[in-house]
Amino acid sequence: MKKIGVLALQGDFAAHEKALARLGVASVEIRETKQFNDIDGLIIPGGESTVMLKLLRADQLMEPLRAFIKVKPVFGTCAGAILLAKTVTGPAQESLGVMDMDVERNAYGRQRESQITEIDLEPVSASHTGANKMEAVFIRAPIIRTIGPGVKVLARYQGNPVLVQQGHHMAATFHPELTNDLRVHKSFIEML
Ligand code: GLN
Repeated sequence: MKKIGVLALQGDFAAHEKALARLGVASVEIRETKQFNDIDGLIIPGGESTVMLKLLRADQLMEPLRAFIKVKPVFGTCAGAILLAKTVTGPAQESLGVMDMDVERNAYGRQRESQITEIDLEPVSASHTGANKMEAVFIRAPIIRTIGPGVKVLARYQGNPVLVQQGHHMAATFHPELTNDLRVHKSFIEML
């Protein structure tokens, strides 16, 4: 049985654990270096990427996290996606740089800071799941502005990628842990 860690320094990690539980998958809250040895994959939740970075540095978790990401699958949602990106703007900040994409933080602007909407699944994921739309919650979300050739787009919103995959890593700019649709978590688990 695969065990998934959820980085639990800050943000909505509890909602991810509930989503995993609904899929019958065991999860563990990650707060210490030694815990990385016990998990097969990691979810970095939404929250505030600046705060998460501060806590990662304060708890000396940056290097263990970088080492883990090299060998095991990681799924970042919203702030987690920002942490996985190669470059971050709006403003610029440090990131783990494992996914070849540039993201702009809080990029939807004040008018539409947060919303529940429908995103378009790319044909490859739509044929896999049997529907080409999915409900998605965006909360002060980033926009993925550019992606490298190794990055596969799984879903878009207004033409911009919102769910992407590169090798064994995934990133979503929305919050799949806040809707009842478990397809995104399921596809991450299938990658393990
Ligand atoms: N705006 C947040 C950030 O820049 C991300 C918001 C979220 O995770 N819902 O880190």
